Amino acid sequence: MNVYDASRMADVLAPLGYVSADEMTGADLVILNTCHIREKAAEKVYSELGRLKLEKDARKSSESPMRIAVGGCVAQAEGQEILRRAPYVDLVFGPQTYHRLALMLNEFESHGKPVVDTEFPADDKFDQLPDAGKVEGASAFLTVQEGCDKFCTFCVVPYTRGSEFSRPVDPVMREARLLVGKGAREISLLGQNVNAYHGINEQADGTQTEWTLGRLIRELAEIDGVERIRYTTSYPAEVDEDLIEAHRDVPELMPYLHLPVQSGADKVLKAMNRRHTSGDYKDIVARLRIAQPDLALSSDFIVGFPGESDADFEETMALVRDVEFVQAYSFKYSPRPGTPAADMTDQVPEHIKSLRLQKLQAELSRQQIAFNQSCIGRSLPVLFDRRGSRSGQLVGRSPYMQSVHVDLPDSYLGEMMTVKIDEAKPSSLTGVVVEKIDRVSQMLRQEAVT
Ligand code: SAH
Repeated sequence: MNVYDASRMADVLAPLGYVSADEMTGADLVILNTCHIREKAAEKVYSELGRLKLEKDARKSSESPMRIAVGGCVAQAEGQEILRRAPYVDLVFGPQTYHRLALMLNEFESHGKPVVDTEFPADDKFDQLPDAGKVEGASAFLTVQEGCDKFCTFCVVPYTRGSEFSRPVDPVMREARLLVGKGAREISLLGQNVNAYHGINEQADGTQTEWTLGRLIRELAEIDGVERIRYTTSYPAEVDEDLIEAHRDVPELMPYLHLPVQSGADKVLKAMNRRHTSGDYKDIVARLRIAQPDLALSSDFIVGFPGESDADFEETMALVRDVEFVQAYSFKYSPRPGTPAADMTDQVPEHIKSLRLQKLQAELSRQQIAFNQSCIGRSLPVLFDRRGSRSGQLVGRSPYMQSVHVDLPDSYLGEMMTVKIDEAKPSSLTGVVVEKIDRVSQMLRQEAVT
């Protein structure tokens, strides 16, 4: 979502004459769009600010001074504290106020004093934003939901992003059409809790209904040019029948789901306030796999949550072996100020967290490698959305979200091609192009019918 937010910030600043720079040297304005989810991410902000200060000082008396802004969730959580620790910062704004960026810049330029705007304004940020700008490489993000009301005891999101909010259907559909018009073929729907989506749909006669994420996906798939749909991040207890049926019925919905479980031990899940047991999680996965047998799963894990015993951790290992993931993110529990778990007394020592993380990651990467190897010899549709690190190489995503590297000239950027996979690396695939896919939706639809 920070990638989406950053591109929207660029859209807000474009009318003022700002264009994105590739590097900070010479930039008039540097925005750090920050993440507060774990301590490490938050601390990075201050070390990065230290580097920016040097550049700013060097240009102090030059024709083009540099402005420094800190946006995102660290800014939201720390506000004035950022100015205390880094008084050379000019703007501080949260994830719910970046649509006012131009106003903040004006205010700063007229008074020369730092501006802090970390409110949760009542007006809808999305109504105030200009239309989305360019789409890079045929894959676009679209935020449909923000915030979270779940209050997991480890998590800062409800405090930094605010409570759950679903964008109404109309502007979402409009933005999707706009993105397709600008070259998007794949749309990734975003939300901190994306499957808690309940967007208002206002009909022509003025009556209002609520759409679930499943319904939204069905309707988006009908837009001519939307060939792939993804969504992230989902909360297990919010997976409903509509969403499961969308996985069964909508060929454009990719057979990949990131569904964070956090732990396999019910005792820990309860202390996390997760509202699902490990059995519930496995049931949801089983229902999804009946609807879409080809579904590849990803997840998030936290090890060393307060009170987690060796036996609890082994239950997480058992769940991983049972469910099988094609990839996953795993983290040591990081106490976040202001969250209930930070004050729990039975914190797990760092070295135990490290041992558990190693063990978990070894199993997760074994599963990931096994999945990647199972792709060798298969022909998979790949949408090429970026250049590779080598020249003459493009990278795209398989339906199951792996990066696929192929030798192809730049002119194929944005193309969808069938690629025969010939090699599996631990976290990516390589292959050769078999054929170009023009109208994948039609092809998939025909397959679904026959
Ligand atoms: N909405 C998702 C959470 C997204 S936050 C859900 O309901 O599960 C992204 C991930 O960061 C989380 O899934 C969690 O694994 C990790 N995370 C969040 N807070 C954390 C903390 N305090 N310490 C370690 N990892 C954390």
